[in-house]
Amino acid sequence: MKQPFMDFTKSIQQLKPELSQAIENVLVSRNFILGKEVNRFEKQFSTYCGARFAVGVGSGTDAIHLALRALQIGHGDEVVTSPLTFAATAFAILQAGSKPVFVDVEPETGCIDPSQLEKLKSKKIKAIVPVHLYGLPVDMKPLLKSAKRKGCHVIEDACQAHGAEYQGKKAGTFGKAGCFSFYPTKNLGAYGDGGAVVTSNKRVYSQLLRLRNYGCVKKNVHEVFGINSRLDEFQAALLRVKLKKLSVWNKKRRQLAEVYKNALSGLPLGLPIDTPQRKHVYHLFVIRCKKRNALKTFLQSKGVETLIHYPTPLHLQKAFWHLGYSKGNFPVAERLCNEILSLPFYPEMSAKEVQAVANHIRAFFKST
Ligand SMILES: *Cc1c(COP(=O)(O)O)cnc(C)c1O
Repeated sequence: MKQPFMDFTKSIQQLKPELSQAIENVLVSRNFILGKEVNRFEKQFSTYCGARFAVGVGSGTDAIHLALRALQIGHGDEVVTSPLTFAATAFAILQAGSKPVFVDVEPETGCIDPSQLEKLKSKKIKAIVPVHLYGLPVDMKPLLKSAKRKGCHVIEDACQAHGAEYQGKKAGTFGKAGCFSFYPTKNLGAYGDGGAVVTSNKRVYSQLLRLRNYGCVKKNVHEVFGINSRLDEFQAALLRVKLKKLSVWNKKRRQLAEVYKNALSGLPLGLPIDTPQRKHVYHLFVIRCKKRNALKTFLQSKGVETLIHYPTPLHLQKAFWHLGYSKGNFPVAERLCNEILSLPFYPEMSAKEVQAVANHIRAFFKST
């Protein structure tokens, strides 16, 4: 039997009547940009996160880019992030006009290693962008301490971590701003592009309202150099339907992750960590395996689709060569890129399907 990496069929089937109604409502309203739906979604999403404000934008990339600009971070500034993330994190930093600076990651989680921050001496560092990788919160306490010592802002890339919690508080609410993507595959996904910044800082909030909309809050009054990056009414209306389910879906993800972990225990694999302190929402279920490529090929031959997030650390990607890094600069991230494998995973997957994937993995180790 074929096992896709993920599948929207069931969730769309389940939500179809409500989604259709939401689309209908927007058509009837004849308001497609910055109307009631975006406004309501922003209120509901900020409440969900436990932040004072949310601002809907065009994508997760723009969320990070605009959050940096809202804090006046740009040309001549350096922004620290992880080399083991989706390229958009670093592109957003470049887009704001600043320079990405990478530091290595924790071997067990792939998240930025806060103890590495102490090595950075540059006075140009104005912000740290921790990435809550795969849905696991970064170890925020030491990271915030380090940021405070350096006098720099923290802007969270929570694009994979809707609903994740660190010490009981939601990801995205630790720094000056928390950035989310609603790309369709994310834990809270739209049916197109979308993103949001959450913040509890009034000034950052009002700055973001301008930056996303050509610099205005009033028609024809352009106060700052803004861009066009807005969450649209259709996506906001659809996201409002899905936001109601997010907690249940995250719970389902956590249960399925337990099924995987139990079924894979005892094998020579690294399994995701999940502690009361760092509550994982499993955007992805990522294992570590020394024989990763052979395992991937084996699973493929059994009809099991897997992916790699990410096969190349950013400092070794051509688009970032100009930053001057080379192989060996971030040994942990480089090693992880050869060992990580994302297994099929989505809330509607059944425990039986998870078990079947795990059985194939057991068979792989028996055969080698
Ligand atoms: C998805 C993602 C982004 C970018 O979000 P888009 O909505 O695709 O622009 C940024 N960072 C991380 C970690 C992501 O997973």
